[in-house]
Formats: sequence, C-alpha cells, structure tokens
Amino acid sequence: AKAAGRCTFMRYNDDMDLAVRQRATISGALRKVLDRGELRLVFQPRLSLSPPRITGVEALLRWSSPEHGDIPPAEFIPIAEESGLILEIGEWVLREACLVLQRWRQHGMDTLNVSVNVSVLQLLRGDFVGVVARVLDDVGIPPHLLELELTESVLMANAEQTAERLQAFRTLGVSLAIDDFGTGYSSLAYLKRLPITTIKIDKAFVDGLPHDAEDAAITPTIVAMAHSLGLRVVAEGVETEGQMRFLAERGCDEIQGFWVSPPLDALQCLAFMRNWRPGELL
Ligand code: C2E
Ligand code: CA
Ligand code: CA
Ligand code: CA
Repeated sequence: AKAAGRCTFMRYNDDMDLAVRQRATISGALRKVLDRGELRLVFQPRLSLSPPRITGVEALLRWSSPEHGDIPPAEFIPIAEESGLILEIGEWVLREACLVLQRWRQHGMDTLNVSVNVSVLQLLRGDFVGVVARVLDDVGIPPHLLELELTESVLMANAEQTAERLQAFRTLGVSLAIDDFGTGYSSLAYLKRLPITTIKIDKAFVDGLPHDAEDAAITPTIVAMAHSLGLRVVAEGVETEGQMRFLAERGCDEIQGFWVSPPLDALQCLAFMRNWRPGELL
C-alpha cells in the first residue's frame, strides 16, 4: 500500500510538473509577445443607420509573430485565457484602445466610442472595475465613451457576482454590450436582470439576410425585443447592401462589418472616419 501510495504521489507530481512546464512555456511565449510588441490593435468602425453616422469602433487584437506569421485571436486568446495571461493582455488592450481613442479625440473625433472585448477571467477578477476606472482616469477618457463587450457565456459564468460587477460599471458610466447575441444557450430572463445597454446580433443571423426566411424572421424579432427592453441593437458581420437595407428597414440601430469597413489600423481608421460621408452608404 505504501509503494502504491508513493507511486500515485509520484505520478501526480509528474503530471503537475508537465502542466506547470506547459503553462510556463505558453506564458513565456505570450509574455515575450507583449514585451516584444508583437501585439497590436485594429479598429472596426460601427455605423449608426439613422441618422447615418460613425458612432465608434471595436478594438480587435492582432498577433503578428516573426516565426509563425499572423495568428488569429480565435487561436491565441483561449491559450492566453488558460494561462491567465489574458489579464495582462486584456489590460494592455484596454489601455491601448483608450490611448488611440484619446489621440483621435485630439483630432476632433470627440464623440467617438470605443468597444473592448472582455474575457471571463477579466470580469471575475476582484478589482476589474477598479482597473477600468484607473485606465480611463490615467488616459483621460470619459467613462461613457467606453463600451465593454461580454459574451453570453461570460455573463452566465457567475450570474450573481456578474450582476453586481456590471452594476458597478453602469454606476461608473461605462456601457455594456452582449456580444455574439443568439449563439449562447442562456434564457432571455437575464436580459431583464442584467444592466446591459447594447445587444450585438451575431453574424450567424445576418449571413442569410435578406432572403433566408429564418434569418429574416429572427433578426427583426431580436430588434423588437431589444427595443422593448430599452437596449440598442448592433448587427455584426454585415457584408452586403441587401443586409444593410433589411436591417435599416427593421429599425436596427447600428451595423458593423465589411460592408462598412474591415478592421483597420489606427491611422487608416482615422483617415476612413474623416473621409466618410453618409451619401456613400445610404
Ligand atoms: P468578435 O468580438 O465577435 O469580433 C468580430 C469578428 O468578426 C472579428 O474577428 C472581425 O474581424 C470579424 N468581422 C467583422 N466584420 C466581419 C464581416 O463582415 N465578415 C466576416 N466574415 N468577419 C467579420 P477577429 O478580429 O478575428 O476576432 C475574433 C474574436 O476574437 C472576436 O470575435 C473576439 O471574440 C476575440 N477577440 C478579438 N480581440 C479580442 C480582445 O482584445 N480580447 C478578447 N478577450 N477577445 C478578443
Ligand atoms: Ca466583439
Ligand atoms: Ca461578436
Ligand atoms: Ca438560416
């Protein structure tokens, strides 16, 4: 029994070592990525439909590795979440997005909003509201110009604690969006319970517009429901004029997608926003 116990102990120990080593490698790689400046942000404009106006941008993370080329966020963000480095990376994203917005504000874009994606680990850390408040204060961004994007799974991860934390953000003046709306399995009840301000309809429901009967039924229903709850509605992944027109006619507040613009680096995005004229789109 003693030998078996020791054996179990050793195996357990080996597993621990392996897990720790893997973590260290991944963390090391991602940490270097931050230090070497391999991460950068791109920005995708959001268009309000009536009246037509660029209201803000979503900040999206990019990793260009000299060794591996461009790695999509869908691949490296889960790793950053596992290793906990998403906390550091997420704070970098938040600060960088605010710094870019502040530069643009100095070019007269002073009503522009910035939206930042937030992962569950960030939301659950005890001092996240404080971190956001400090970054806004350091950079000099009024809180109402920041929107945090949270997925349904993030919101459901710890419903009680999440509700309190979201309320603290609303008290601070920060806007809150549900990202990828419609793709989760959560009930609609939380829409009423949580103090969110915006719904982002997932691209999956936009793709089939205007001809797909299901998508054409679902999207106006989401818009109507969101409006009855006093929420703003953004459609994601809008790629065609037909999709845009359908959404505009059904009262969708804003669109985002390649039809308006792909994500752009900060300089290109500023140029795009300054040159943009309503007549080009509607
Ligand atoms: P998301 O938040 O749903 O972001 C929208 C994604 O759709 C982006 O992909 C964007 O480039 C892409 N997109 C926008 N318009 C169109 C369109 O018209 N057609 C198509 N086919 N795609 C469009 P991206 O940049 O690869 O980001 C993927 C996901 O990675 C994001 O999905 C988000 O969940 C996550 N992500 C990106 N940046 C961050 C970040 O800073 N923090 C965290 N936690 N997650 C991030
Ligand atoms: Ca998003
Ligand atoms: Ca989304
Ligand atoms: Ca469909």
